[in-house]
Amino acid sequence: MSDKPVSIALFGPGTVGTEVARLLTDNAADLASRVGAPVELAGIYVRDVTVPRPQVLDRDLLTTDAHGLIERSDVVVELMGGIEPAKSFVLEAIGAGCSVVTANKALLAAHGPELYEAADANHVDLYFEAAVAGAIPIIRPLRESLAGDHVVRILGIVNGTTNYMLDEMTERGLDYDVALKQAQDLGYAEADPSADVDGHDAAAKAAILASLAFHQRIHLADVHCEGIAAITADDVAAAKESGHVIKLLAIAERVGEGDDAGVSVRVHPALVPLGHPLAGVHGAFNAVFVEAEAAGELMFYGQGAGGTPTASAVLGDVVSVARHRAQAGRGPRESNYADLPVLALESAASRFQLRMTVPDRPGVLANIAGVLAEHSISIETVRQSAASGAGQATLIIATHSASERELARVLDVLRSSAAVTDIRSVLRIEGD
Ligand code: NAP
Repeated sequence: MSDKPVSIALFGPGTVGTEVARLLTDNAADLASRVGAPVELAGIYVRDVTVPRPQVLDRDLLTTDAHGLIERSDVVVELMGGIEPAKSFVLEAIGAGCSVVTANKALLAAHGPELYEAADANHVDLYFEAAVAGAIPIIRPLRESLAGDHVVRILGIVNGTTNYMLDEMTERGLDYDVALKQAQDLGYAEADPSADVDGHDAAAKAAILASLAFHQRIHLADVHCEGIAAITADDVAAAKESGHVIKLLAIAERVGEGDDAGVSVRVHPALVPLGHPLAGVHGAFNAVFVEAEAAGELMFYGQGAGGTPTASAVLGDVVSVARHRAQAGRGPRESNYADLPVLALESAASRFQLRMTVPDRPGVLANIAGVLAEHSISIETVRQSAASGAGQATLIIATHSASERELARVLDVLRSSAAVTDIRSVLRIEGD
């Protein structure tokens, strides 16, 4: 056991940062034994030391001198969020020889490569377990445990707010607006919920997961992103009837073989069969389902947010990088040797469920089936029921795997066809 402490600087003593400070203090003896050296909170950077703060934050550690704090620290824990000034502080810390632990998915998704390169050039660690799915260990399994395998596909429920909303719509039949208001009242959703409901938060996490899974840089702009704002109580009820549940999924998959191989990374709502493990993820919980060539199917499940759960993941990183400091070692570097093309959405393939209102007369189904067949899309199931309008029926068609490009063409044709009154929803089916 070394006597020389590993000094930790905390930037951003908010929801997560306050819990990190508490755990660093409460668990000091265990952390020292696990690291092999005392782990000491050297200072907490704040904009204003006079602002009232939770008692657990030692006022004597508060400082507005970010540069001085970085200078006297071994590890900088960045929990401010956002791009600036977080990025400048992280780069300054790396340049000063500090290892960095961050939970900042926005920063990593937008500027990961620059940060990895800086960490590499300065021989320090950059760890970010808490940036995706809060408390759930998923970064380390992808970066280390599965480093000898080939990941084929990741399906993730990585946004707790939208999972809570969709779950309430499913379990209690709520309308979208009511579920959103409830999520806001409970503090799951912000007053401006767009980062969650439009899928941007999940897209940043998808970019991080895909980069690790496929050993190449995936940029946020490469991620196709659709949110849940168009999902209605009718969609949810129809999903139930067909044995599915609607989830907002972050999907990263390797598609094609040889010269046609590529990577598809996307976020969108999808129908998940009730028997799939992801269908059982309720409330604000997160889960990441990984399919790998040799390992097969794995699922990582737990709390994707919250101060204490997220602080657990941050502390795990702190212990890892502190161990490396104490033993003059380093953790794994960025693995980015691969460069499969990242495919545009139109090149991806999925199964689809089309829900339409159609005139209730002979020949309509044959007409629609003909349009699908002309575009080489084969039908798996068809269900018809009475629609509310007189002389109308609801038709629900599930397709076999079809390309997005062909499906878009089919929808164009059907929208202008007399055989279709209204296309009420088109949802992809994943996980079967
Ligand atoms: P938070 O409660 O809003 O706390 C942010 C902290 O950073 C506050 O102490 C804030 O100070 C400080 N800060 C923000 N901008 C600053 C600036 N320009 N200069 C100095 N200090 C600044 O955020 P959080 O929920 O703890 O999240 C922190 C990070 O963890 C984010 O990257 C987030 O995405 C990530 N994360 C959070 C969760 C979660 O459940 N909360 C889960 C996973 C990952 P003031 O108090 O002075 O504003």
